[in-house]
Amino acid sequence: MSTITQLIHSIPVDEQTGAIAVPIYQTSTFVQEAPGVNKGYDYARTNNPTREILEKIVAQLEEGATGIAFSSGLAAIDAVLKLLKSGDEIVAVDDIYGGAFRLFTKVYEKFGIKVTYVDTSDTQAVFNAITPATRLIWLETPTNPTLKISDIAAIAKIAKAGKCLFCVDNTFASPVLQQPLKLGADIVVHSATKYLGGHSDLIAGVVVTKTAELGAEVRFYQNACGAILSPFDSFLLIRGIETLHLRVRQHCANAQQVAEYLENHPLVDKVYYPGLSSHPNHLLAGQQAKGFGGIVSFTLKDDTEEAAKSFVTNTRYFKLAESLGGIKSLLCHPASMTHKSIPDEKRRAAGVADSLIRLSVGLEEPADLLEDLQQTFNKIDQLQPAVSGL
Ligand SMILES: *Cc1c(COP(=O)(O)O)cnc(C)c1O
Repeated sequence: MSTITQLIHSIPVDEQTGAIAVPIYQTSTFVQEAPGVNKGYDYARTNNPTREILEKIVAQLEEGATGIAFSSGLAAIDAVLKLLKSGDEIVAVDDIYGGAFRLFTKVYEKFGIKVTYVDTSDTQAVFNAITPATRLIWLETPTNPTLKISDIAAIAKIAKAGKCLFCVDNTFASPVLQQPLKLGADIVVHSATKYLGGHSDLIAGVVVTKTAELGAEVRFYQNACGAILSPFDSFLLIRGIETLHLRVRQHCANAQQVAEYLENHPLVDKVYYPGLSSHPNHLLAGQQAKGFGGIVSFTLKDDTEEAAKSFVTNTRYFKLAESLGGIKSLLCHPASMTHKSIPDEKRRAAGVADSLIRLSVGLEEPADLLEDLQQTFNKIDQLQPAVSGL
């Protein structure tokens, strides 16, 4: 059976009524026959049938033992960090998602956890950063917003040799394209807000563990700390996942066209997309993933914040917003939005140029998206002489 058929039929028919859609069990508690005698559910923070079905679906998608659903991607990341204790160290990808950076440095360093950031696309640098106190390696691949690719299988070997946990934030690739557990990772996290949900209508996170033992540990923190996903949002996420394969396939096809268009545009300087043969890790990206994803970043020849701001305020279909992975195309200007809190020099050194623009390529007709980009370039080109003439 193909994975897509398997996914669709892993969503169970309701035994009691035959409902083909998963019922939303909007309840806080479950009536017990006698103390401790129940139908498998006692209190809805601990377990809820709607959430439980979602958790089984995501575990299957990533081919892991256990899925655990949270109220946001950051709550999922937080639950994984709780596996550590004071004195432990993390080796993390230097291009890390900003919210994870804030959680690591502003919350967990306070509790005595040390984080070392390295360029994980250089496997040797990961190896060199490991110390006897390293307990966790934290990876994102592709990264945000410069789409750097790291070798998951090679880093998994380093983690194993160093006896540390290896967690991959698989938000950008989605399990349709990349399954880190099969490449040797112990844990996968997702901001399900992005591709898994896919419709920009909810905030959610999931953790999937390779083993049931690790799953039980993370589930302990889900219940003990309480950042659970609600029954309604679990329902919405199941509904989103039903079309994940189709959507991701089309996101990739559209993004490839957009990246190739941008690479040939005279006003564009660099294009960052793993699907271009010019990408430094194009081959590795093709080996460890089934596609190159829906995110494309680029810089302008006129490498100024003004030029980028003029671009991002003149598109028609690409809407200016943070977030990604939804059906509607979005764009953002990291230097003045997601990466604003990083000092200019540090940001530029990390490859996030003043004019860098990140696109989340949606599911519109690709010809319309190219036309939108073309009319935007035309506009900023016309604006240019007027501005410099002032
Ligand atoms: C958005 C995002 C997160 C955080 O997820 P939320 O659902 O916003 O809490 C974590 N990692 C990556 C890569 C993201 O893009």
